Amino acid sequence: MRIDPHTHSAYSDGTESPAALMAQAARAGLDVVGLTDHDTTAGWEEAAAAVPETGVTLLRGAEISCSANGIALHLLAYLFDPDYAPLADALAHARHSRSNRTRLMVQRLAADYPITWEGVLAQAADATTIGRPHIADALVAAGAFPDRAAAFAGPLATSSPYYVPYWGLDPVDACRLVRAAGGVPVAAHPRAANRQRGLVPDETFARMAQAGLAAIEVDHRDHGPAQRDQARALAQALGLGMSGASDYHGAGKPNRLGENLMSPALLEQIVSEGALALIAP
Ligand code: AMP
Ligand code: ZN
Ligand code: FE
Ligand code: FE
Repeated sequence: MRIDPHTHSAYSDGTESPAALMAQAARAGLDVVGLTDHDTTAGWEEAAAAVPETGVTLLRGAEISCSANGIALHLLAYLFDPDYAPLADALAHARHSRSNRTRLMVQRLAADYPITWEGVLAQAADATTIGRPHIADALVAAGAFPDRAAAFAGPLATSSPYYVPYWGLDPVDACRLVRAAGGVPVAAHPRAANRQRGLVPDETFARMAQAGLAAIEVDHRDHGPAQRDQARALAQALGLGMSGASDYHGAGKPNRLGENLMSPALLEQIVSEGALALIAP
């Protein structure tokens, strides 16, 4: 069974609709795909509607933006009740903060680059969760950079003076909230150093494990061999499961569907612990 549990649609910063994503998943030979847009569940319905025709089983999820004392950490949450207010409110707060911060970054960038807030909104047509990838798309559309990656290597880098952080839940609180919502939390790319301001220490993952963390991503494009070894050791030390995923963003990133996979055993655990079921054809 081929399970790719971490992908993005145009409801956040992927470039494809959930239906197109499901069709791509079928073409990539996947049996199960996890839709995990940043801080939103808005794409679930459309993805679910595409299950019968594509034959691909849907794992409903989200990737929650967390901040551990200023260090960004992404927490995947699976099969939680989307109407559980404390979690839904936190996701709405994160989306709002992202939008404000993206606007602020555009203000700063506009002093030196051909960019406007309207231009960014035009790149974020379907998105409920807006962010730096949409700024990148606007810069590319204006001819300032050849692609998203080049914009991220330049003025959109976290180390750049144009960068503005945004609010996110504390990751330990987030694990508790996800469990309270009936969901199953999995830490996304915990050792991907290239895009975060520093790394979250092992001790934080130990506290997350006590708060209900089920697994951490080991196999991810942003982890080299050394980072995979570190993530694997961390999971083993804390008795956590190990995941793998593509983190597919459509044309927005080079990540290809199915390039890393989750084991059927971990999916079975997530399903047994989650409040919602898989949506199967
Ligand atoms: P934000 O959350 O708005 O700060 O933007 C971070 C998002 O940008 C993440 O979801 C990444 O997937 C995406 N991202 C980070 N680095 C790159 C890159 N080099 N090229 C394309 N997308 C990127
Ligand atoms: Zn993303
Ligand atoms: Fe992420
Ligand atoms: Fe992601």
